[in-house]
Amino acid sequence: MIDKKPFEIARETLKQLTVRKLAPTPINYQRIYSEIAGQAIEPPFPADRLRDIAVSLPTKTPGQQKQRGLLESAISQLNWDGVKNALMAYGGFSPPAPEPGKSATMALHEPAKAAVTVIELPDHPVVTAPALTADFFGQIARLIEYALPALGQDDERFAEQTQTLIKALRQPNADAVALKQMLTSYGHRLSFAAEDQAEIKNVLLKLLHLIIENISHLSLDDGWLKGQVDALMEVCAPPLTLRRLDDVEQRLKDVIFKQTEAKTRAVQAQEEMRQMLATFVDRLATMSQSTGSFHDMLEQSARLIEQAKTITDIAPVLKEVVGATRTMAHDSESARNELQSMKKRAEATEVELSKLHQELDRVSAQARHDPLTGALNRQGLDEALGRELSKVRRQDTPLCMALLDIDNFKKLNDTLGHATGDVALTHLASVAREVMRPQDTLARYGGEEFVILLPDTSLDQGIDAMTRLQRELTKRFFLAGTEKVLITFSAGVAQLATNETGQDAIKRADQAMYLAKRAGKNRVLGA
Ligand code: GH3
Ligand code: MG
Ligand code: MG
Repeated sequence: MIDKKPFEIARETLKQLTVRKLAPTPINYQRIYSEIAGQAIEPPFPADRLRDIAVSLPTKTPGQQKQRGLLESAISQLNWDGVKNALMAYGGFSPPAPEPGKSATMALHEPAKAAVTVIELPDHPVVTAPALTADFFGQIARLIEYALPALGQDDERFAEQTQTLIKALRQPNADAVALKQMLTSYGHRLSFAAEDQAEIKNVLLKLLHLIIENISHLSLDDGWLKGQVDALMEVCAPPLTLRRLDDVEQRLKDVIFKQTEAKTRAVQAQEEMRQMLATFVDRLATMSQSTGSFHDMLEQSARLIEQAKTITDIAPVLKEVVGATRTMAHDSESARNELQSMKKRAEATEVELSKLHQELDRVSAQARHDPLTGALNRQGLDEALGRELSKVRRQDTPLCMALLDIDNFKKLNDTLGHATGDVALTHLASVAREVMRPQDTLARYGGEEFVILLPDTSLDQGIDAMTRLQRELTKRFFLAGTEKVLITFSAGVAQLATNETGQDAIKRADQAMYLAKRAGKNRVLGA
């Protein structure tokens, strides 16, 4: 190598460009520079161009899909050998065997037994591929281990077969033919196990539906629970995701808590009524007893009066009758008073119960959901945000939040009435729910403002999703009487930044929404 300082090489390069009358392009400069420096300069890896090529390769068969995947991974690792091998295998050619003594990272290509193994791909009937290696078998073993939790552990024979297979796959000099047979028989069993798990899931889901239905039948007052139970039924309909199951759990807890609360209070009220009834019956008995003795006494007096010969004989009898009548009247009055006070207490209990139900109605509807649109309310949003944030921290996935505000909503209220405004809000929420993925969350943030949480979504994808919703909304109108009403919205989308709180990201989305309004409304802007 010529020992020149970089600035000398640079100066010489410029001189040579002039001498040789070459255009001063970066490529010419680089060529002359490396010539003077006496060292080959690797041209940059054309990752973007290669990616373009990879994207345009058809992936109609599993073999093509696999090779295209390998090609994309080689491109992202800037690995020329990988690119070459993937392209050759895609075209149906065997990639060259690695040179002896290559590093351990190339172990995938190391022959384990025979030099070349013939494998069959659906698109290329016979394809030669590098020998099956210990590393490759190790990967299959790992794959099986990863899949195990999804297959359950109840079938002992299956568990045993799995362990035997994993052990065989990890044998240093495994026999490929024997392994293939084991894999085939394991494949059959695996398909049964997977079917079993799918069936178990279905049955559990049916059971969950039954439980929910039963809860609604158990309810002392169906009215206030109906909304909750319907929502529960809706969220536990397939396809189920962990997120939806989480929602089911939350709602179920709500329902059970409120059911218990209402029942305890109702049982208490019933006990009060029972006691009042007992006192009432007691009073009646005393009354009829005293009426009975009063009656006897009157008969006795009548007899005495009949037998009386003088007025003086009658006087004591009359005195007794008057006294008894007075006692009787007194007894009746106190019984009446007592009954009246019992009636008042019964009425008060009834009012209290009906208030309690109204309160439960309100609390139940407002716990996490906005009663008008069925979207989450602020509290529901806070909880959902908490769950999403912990997922982001656990899985390191992007999370987007969009804030949308209906355009000219005040005008819509003013011209078509508040009730139509309410219909517009419900319409927007239901279109949003249809367009969004099940894992997305819709929340009513304020009057005519909604927040949508979009997990596993980058900023660009978030903007796309909101634009899709916007387009869908412009296609769908709703009727106010005979008038067709179309609504539009302006939205801001923010992707949660590292160490940013959910509220701060929503604030950024709000600022972007404000800019969208300033820019003429009916548009989506990224924050
Ligand atoms: P902009 O395009 O700039 O957003 O204008 P706008 O008219 O939509 O916004 P503004 O904030 O001026 O008006 C919002 C209106 O939303 C005012 C309020 O009466 C109405 N609103 C809030 N909550 C409800 C509701 O639950 N139902 C109905 N019908 N209207 C509501
Ligand atoms: Mg607003
Ligand atoms: Mg508005």
